[in-house]
Amino acid sequence: MIQKFRNKRIAIVGGGLGGLCLAQGLKKNGISYMIFEKDTASNVRTQGYRIRINELGRNALKECLPENLYQLFFETCATSTTGMRVFNPGLKESKNELVESWSDGVKEMPDLKPNRLTLREILLQGLQENIQFGKELVSWKELANEKTELSFADGAQYVADLVVAADGVHSKIGKGYCKDRKINTGNITIYGRTFFTDKAQEQIAKELQKGTSVILGDQFSLITDAMKFDFYKKDKSWDVLSPIYNYFYWAFIGNPEAFGLSQANFYNQPSEEVFQCINKLTGHWHPKLKALFEHADKESLSITPIRSSLPKEKWKSGSITALGDAVHTMSPAGGVGANTAFMDAALLTINISEALVKNTNMIMAIADYEEKMRIYSNQAVELSLRGGNILHGANEKN
Ligand SMILES: Cc1cc2nc3c(=O)[nH]c(=O)nc-3n(C[C@H](O)[C@H](O)[C@H](O)COP(=O)(O)OP(=O)(O)OC[C@H]3O[C@@H](n4cnc5c(N)ncnc54)[C@H](O)[C@@H]3O)c2cc1C
Repeated sequence: MIQKFRNKRIAIVGGGLGGLCLAQGLKKNGISYMIFEKDTASNVRTQGYRIRINELGRNALKECLPENLYQLFFETCATSTTGMRVFNPGLKESKNELVESWSDGVKEMPDLKPNRLTLREILLQGLQENIQFGKELVSWKELANEKTELSFADGAQYVADLVVAADGVHSKIGKGYCKDRKINTGNITIYGRTFFTDKAQEQIAKELQKGTSVILGDQFSLITDAMKFDFYKKDKSWDVLSPIYNYFYWAFIGNPEAFGLSQANFYNQPSEEVFQCINKLTGHWHPKLKALFEHADKESLSITPIRSSLPKEKWKSGSITALGDAVHTMSPAGGVGANTAFMDAALLTINISEALVKNTNMIMAIADYEEKMRIYSNQAVELSLRGGNILHGANEKN
């Protein structure tokens, strides 16, 4: 696509899910942009496994992606299943419907479940020339002419007409410019995956081998999802994507003390020790549930603290804004953080394009985005906190 709007320098800081989605939307509308990503390449670190995409996220991706990439996203999701089943540690099913955003009951289509790396690889397609890796934003300065000077850790600088911070939970612009305040909920998530080997499939409960399951413990829960990628059997070329193998995604959400980890030390815990904590915690569980961890991919384990943004208030709109976790971090318990980042990207795409096509005031377009984003993101943060409280009980710390 020929870029019709080359005269504006739009800088996207952060090439994660939200930033890449925005870049795709701008590209689709012929608007030039430059992405600055801290990591030295797209695959230098694990960024999670399953990501649940709801109707709002799907519509936002449709808005931003060209038809062929949207189709690729759609076709590469794990095989669709409906609903969520809830079990106790003895593998006895309960009728509980826990987290409303996970329920597929009344939806037009069940939520989609792409593998996170695959989705990111799809979002990166066609953007290679406009992404600079190894560019960590360290500071920014507003200049007199409504431009902004960005400074990076390697000493490079870039002057932009519009800056969109999409640099995730630790965003300096999100905190400093958009006044985002986050709390540490005091809870953590420990997540990983277990490949569908013959032995694992034989020993892991059949109930877990389709759809989403939740196992409720004391002050924590375990969420699992069977990620089966039947698309590999189809006669198509997927060579732009890294291979994926079927796996069980699993994530504990809860109080670190429930795992025998103190608030302070869990970051530095070697993964074998965390697995020992998991084994201790699940020692009395049904053997067909415990098998999930016996066969786990030991290198897949990650631990992150759960942070949550406080309700957002208005800030002065200008030629700097933010999207996604940079401006609204939420507990993964709601499964809507990325979906909300995609909604931001789609709304920003629409507003920026309209301002450029109609030659109207860009700051008004940004202010309109921020006004709407504050409302729906506050609701998403609230929904995610409610989800967390159901899964591990209220436990907030500043
Ligand atoms: C275990 C877990 C499960 C989840 N499951 C779901 C789910 O099922 N559905 C859902 O909707 N959400 C889910 N989420 C939330 C979702 O992952 C996030 O909300 C989403 O990734 C936010 O996207 P983002 O683009 O704002 O930030 P990120 O994806 O974090 O991307 C930020 C990017 O900015 C880069 N960056 C950081 N600092 C700088 C800097 N200074 N300069 C330049 N670049 C920088 C980073 O390297 C990264 O590439 C889950 C989260 C977790 C932890």
